[in-house]
Amino acid sequence: FRVPTAKNETVLSYAPGSQERKELEAQLKAFKQHEVDIPMYIGGQEIRTGNKISMHPPHNTKHCLGYYHQGDETHVYKAIDAALTAKKKWADLSWEHRASIFLKAAELVAGPYRQKLNAATILGQSKNAYQAEIDSACELADFLRFNVQYMCDVYAQQPESSPGIWNRVEHRPLEGFVFALTPFNFTAIAGNLPTAPAMMGNTVVWKPSKSAVYSAKVLMEVFMEAGVPAGVINLVYASGPVMAKVVFGHPEFAGIHFTGSTGVFQSMWKTIGANIEKYKSYPRIVGETGGKDYILAHKSCDAKAVATAIVRGGFEYQGQKCSAASRVYIPQSRWDEIKTYVGNQLSEIKVGDPEDFSNFVNAVIDEASFDKLAAAIDEAKASKEAQVIFGGNYDKTEGYFIEPTIIQTTNPKYITMQEELFGPVLTLYVYEDNKFEETMDILDSTSVYALTGAIFSQDRYAAELATQRLVNTAGNFYINDKPTGAVVGQQPFGGARGSGTNDKAGSAINLMRWVSPRTIKETF
Ligand code: GLU
Repeated sequence: FRVPTAKNETVLSYAPGSQERKELEAQLKAFKQHEVDIPMYIGGQEIRTGNKISMHPPHNTKHCLGYYHQGDETHVYKAIDAALTAKKKWADLSWEHRASIFLKAAELVAGPYRQKLNAATILGQSKNAYQAEIDSACELADFLRFNVQYMCDVYAQQPESSPGIWNRVEHRPLEGFVFALTPFNFTAIAGNLPTAPAMMGNTVVWKPSKSAVYSAKVLMEVFMEAGVPAGVINLVYASGPVMAKVVFGHPEFAGIHFTGSTGVFQSMWKTIGANIEKYKSYPRIVGETGGKDYILAHKSCDAKAVATAIVRGGFEYQGQKCSAASRVYIPQSRWDEIKTYVGNQLSEIKVGDPEDFSNFVNAVIDEASFDKLAAAIDEAKASKEAQVIFGGNYDKTEGYFIEPTIIQTTNPKYITMQEELFGPVLTLYVYEDNKFEETMDILDSTSVYALTGAIFSQDRYAAELATQRLVNTAGNFYINDKPTGAVVGQQPFGGARGSGTNDKAGSAINLMRWVSPRTIKETF
């Protein structure tokens, strides 16, 4: 079992005058010059329904990027049929063949498709060049390369045999089809959710977020050029209720690979439960959902490092990472210092269009998100328990722009210390230095989610205490670093409680969910 040892893709700098910057600018221009017409891809065919939905950059809502063709029930059935038809041949191919296809996909992502993926992510999802690069180029290539390596680890897991007996385990794919439902916030996740099950021999019906169809289309082109056969990954766009009705009502539904909101995940889980008697097998339910991720500073912390974590962890990609810092606990004695550093760093941040590479914060994804964030800011402005200490402005004339905002509250259970907002609005609570342990207890008891968290402490004992005491509050825990930016192969990612099934994206644990092993005992 030998495949190339996976290495993390190097992040390019996009410095002025660099080759990659020229290429990206040319690609952005090309995508803006013509309106794209995006079909569904079902069983290797491009399907255009004529029910065209327009796409607009969140930062420039008057510009039209193009259209995608929305499908209905019949297309979802067609996609399932295509997946089931492609299944037998795909499942029976050698794993080396499948590995080779996805290794080639990684090369395409890191090479000829790099700027197409970045440009589609910048325009469609309002990500700045650096955030697009670490996502749609690097993390995506990493997912593909590391998963191929982990795939071999899964297949290599074999039982003991004894004289006269040969025991072996065949890691067969699941029976039926897998449904991948992917989010807007990471093109890499949109690429990982269908490919991880496909790599293990499954065939997939894939519905992307309606806010990330452009990058999904480019991903589909990568898969096809890499050699993913017709019907193995089928890209469909239909409304949520239509998808749910057809997919979860189908006897061959074998599992779901999901990243998105907690509410959607819970509702799908209930629907799957209600249909359980229809299915041939118990479906695999794998999901990464919301987060209310924290930074806890101890009185021994490095103040500047905490400030950087707040600004980067809270506001990169407008706080729209599931891992984004959104609640912060600061000891009284260090607050003035930290606040000064935060203020200085925020004064250097520019908000605006991601096509201007100097803008750090861009637009939030859509109007519903904008309105929710604006309402939370207004509520804090009017509250007796809270005040807006940084930012607080918002404007949707050109696009959905929210200024990086920090709400300070006197109540550690204040609504935005608990509820996920998914945007550049962070809430901060200052605690008395001698209440470090009580603060951890409050933090734990208010953690409905458990995705990421960070402790900042120069005192190793306090860092250890937090690591132990907060054990159930984060699937990815950071000591002296921001809670975002997990790297595939280095920090396997996922959380528990309301944050998901914690099947660690980009790991052998995740790939194990897409196999239904058969143990064979042969006696001689
Ligand atoms: N893996 C990403 C990170 O560590 C977050 C993924 C997500 O938002 O779903 O920042």
